[in-house]
Amino acid sequence: MAYWQQLKKLFSAKPKPAMAQSFSLTVQKITHISEHVRRLTLGGSAVRHLPQLRPGSCIRLLFESDGRPLQRKALQEEALLERPFTVRFCDTDMLLVTIDVMLGGHLPDGPARQWANQARIGEDIQVKGPWFSPALKASTDWVLLGGEVPAIPAIAHHLEALHPATRGIVAINNSGMLENILLSKPVNMEIVWNNGRFATLPQLLQNIPRPAGSPAAWIGARQQDIAPLSQWLEQSVGVPEEALSITAYDSQTTRQVFQAAS
Ligand SMILES: Cc1cc2nc3c(=O)[nH]c(=O)nc-3n(C[C@H](O)[C@H](O)[C@H](O)COP(=O)(O)OP(=O)(O)OC[C@H]3O[C@@H](n4cnc5c(N)ncnc54)[C@H](O)[C@@H]3O)c2cc1C
Repeated sequence: MAYWQQLKKLFSAKPKPAMAQSFSLTVQKITHISEHVRRLTLGGSAVRHLPQLRPGSCIRLLFESDGRPLQRKALQEEALLERPFTVRFCDTDMLLVTIDVMLGGHLPDGPARQWANQARIGEDIQVKGPWFSPALKASTDWVLLGGEVPAIPAIAHHLEALHPATRGIVAINNSGMLENILLSKPVNMEIVWNNGRFATLPQLLQNIPRPAGSPAAWIGARQQDIAPLSQWLEQSVGVPEEALSITAYDSQTTRQVFQAAS
């Protein structure tokens, strides 16, 4: 096949669907990054079959309907609890996937955070995925990242993936967190932690400095804030519709915003 044909095939390839069936991963390492961040590294031979897995994609941890981690293959049409988490790092040679589970603060513990608190090395859990969240549009004047506490791992990923010359603002509503987390970032991305000054993420966003020009925005918000925030970001901040990515981080029904990893 000619070189140009190979290139065409590569770039026109249809996205592969995320693994429809669940697969088993085993807890390999648990790190207490800080009071509010529990880092879990999961591993297993299934990772070998997920070449599309990469940092910033999303996997779903599966739990029985009573909240216990699912440790057997999920049956089709079975009522299970699925909890999405952002892949922070992955190593497809070592067959490892790392997620950061945000703990404490104002977040009540559901099955996933309870599991992250108590998980032991060697414990298995069934997982589905990966899915991709939409990428940030690159050709804008500046970038706005904003989110609630569970969106911090995704924000950390975006900051690491941005071009070093990117400028912009990160606004984090860290309600209930006793500390600010150290995040690697381009030098011209300014991080604003709420630290209790404003009651909500929308209020925080409305009170941050805004560089001139047209921004791309990525926001991980509460379901109830999605519609008003989208409207405000487009109409008052001037985010073009195609440069806005906004996701509910407290909803279990966000599957539709993800496209299968390609
Ligand atoms: C694409 C995506 C990626 C995510 N990545 C991560 C990640 O990397 N790390 C991480 O820690 N979390 C992440 N989350 C959020 C995480 O999936 C949820 O917080 C999840 O609900 C936790 O499950 P749980 O079983 O502990 O709590 P649940 O049983 O879901 O919730 C317990 C209670 O807390 C409430 N609640 C849940 N979330 C919130 C919230 N955000 N604010 C206020 N109340 C809430 C629920 O309504 C419920 O009453 C992500 C979410 C999405 C959509």
